[in-house]
Amino acid sequence: MLLKELTEVYEKVRARSSKLEKITLVSELLRKTPSETLPLVCYMLRGKIFPDYSAQELRLGWSSIWDAIRAVTHVSEEDLRIAYNKFGDLGSAVELIFEQNPKISVSLVTEPLTVEECYNALLKIATLRGKESLRRKKTILMGLLNTSSPDEAKFIVKTITGEMRYGFKQGLLEEAIAEAFSVDVAVLRKAYMVRSDIGEVARIAKEQPETLKELSIVLGRPLRPMLAETADTLEEGFKRFDKALFEYKYDGARLSIHKNDDVVSIFTREAEEVSTSLPEIVEDIQKIPHSFIVDCEIIPFEHSPKAFQELIKRLRRKHRVEEFARKIPVKLYVFDLIYLDGTALIDTPLLKRRELLATAIQQPTERIEIAKCILTKSSAEARIMFQEALDLGFEGLMIKNPRSLYTPGKRGIEWLKLKPEAETLDLVVIAVEYGHGKRANLLSDYTFATRDRDGNLAPIAKAFGGLKDAEIEEMTEYFKGIAREQRGRTFIVEQKVVVELKFDEIQKSSLYAVGYALRFPRIKRIRWDLSVDEIDSIETVEKIYGRQKRSS
Ligand code: AMP
Repeated sequence: MLLKELTEVYEKVRARSSKLEKITLVSELLRKTPSETLPLVCYMLRGKIFPDYSAQELRLGWSSIWDAIRAVTHVSEEDLRIAYNKFGDLGSAVELIFEQNPKISVSLVTEPLTVEECYNALLKIATLRGKESLRRKKTILMGLLNTSSPDEAKFIVKTITGEMRYGFKQGLLEEAIAEAFSVDVAVLRKAYMVRSDIGEVARIAKEQPETLKELSIVLGRPLRPMLAETADTLEEGFKRFDKALFEYKYDGARLSIHKNDDVVSIFTREAEEVSTSLPEIVEDIQKIPHSFIVDCEIIPFEHSPKAFQELIKRLRRKHRVEEFARKIPVKLYVFDLIYLDGTALIDTPLLKRRELLATAIQQPTERIEIAKCILTKSSAEARIMFQEALDLGFEGLMIKNPRSLYTPGKRGIEWLKLKPEAETLDLVVIAVEYGHGKRANLLSDYTFATRDRDGNLAPIAKAFGGLKDAEIEEMTEYFKGIAREQRGRTFIVEQKVVVELKFDEIQKSSLYAVGYALRFPRIKRIRWDLSVDEIDSIETVEKIYGRQKRSS
């Protein structure tokens, strides 16, 4: 299949605003795509060339793509930057550069690119390792770009960067597949939930649609985790379900563990297998009878929960694993059971899954426990549990619908998360940068400073979330007015805008000279009422850090 057929549809879908028209365009393309190419087309249409159950990545950095584009088009650094700034996305920049600088035409001597060639080249890029691999990856990309039209070059770069931006999300792709092969979209979605591979499911929909219904979980193949919405109060749970299941919310890393007889595979939420970095957990899990899939959170734990960063030193570790297992003990809290001895449980209500979990894991160990939960109608009881969670050094509570089914990959109202009102910091903006995508022309990414021990302003965070679009537009004008200097896409600004920042946690970090950084900072509001003299200093940062660690 020619790549051109795919890129033409991409362009048409991008130009339409009606979802139905978008779906029809893609479904027509899928219907005429040969079976063996169908998975590749599905992957490329979503800008992610591997199925969800795979942790494989292209491993081709921004600067390599940048260099490859420059090498193929001979455009200057400055011109590519101007093109990039115009769109805030490299794919569209490439298209413009290709159009402005027609390459010495290669299309006369080369065959047009096919989808299969393009996909295989990307696969090759993903699998190259070791010395010289970066150079070879770039060479492969240059080869692709050299044989591409402007549209194709744009599509290839977008597939690599994952910035498809054509208003065609996963949900619409599912609808297009269902329409193309006349299958029920609910059945198709369910099949995708259990298989975590949209390409495989599309192919089955085409070749054996009647078997879609029978697809089930594959032990050893990671599922996408079920996700939670934020709740502002405990009572939100009761508003939605008469009785709610409250669990401690642990602050660590989400893991799913697949046990098939003796074989234990531990996956992160990004489907990366990390079993070898957690030998003591593997050993404990092996001792539990049954084959199963459990959903859990792992935290660093020695008498009480330790700081989240400790965990980073353990997960994915390849060397000195045993030594770090001793240095940084961890604890696994299991909160769900998705599969047990040949039976998938995603259609079993949570309360029943919890019961089965208790029968499967009967003996907690020093390292593996079932997450504490209560089923209640009483706010007072829930409030006590919330306080208890915080006193024990956990993050808060999860509020779950006891009747809910397990829906892989979905964020819904069946699971809610509740954390205490976050502390905030008032910091001053010292630099602003152009954003990406629809914010490419807006100064939306801010760098913030606190005051260090010598009274000097010192950067401590970078954030872009939190302000409304209209506010960002207003602030862009404002910041341009107080800009002192431009460096590339960044403006250094007069230090007069104070912002109240929310964040998940303060971490010790070498990222900034002050030795701390904020985890997930986002803007709460601009404090026009405060001046730079009133911002929070490093002492306050340290105080909050200390409070956070109170229970560790
Ligand atoms: P957040 O990361 O703040 O969006 O909160 C959701 C995450 O909390 C999940 O993805 C899990 O990693 C984690 N978590 C901790 N404890 C639980 C629990 N009891 N049930 C579900 N998720 C939990």
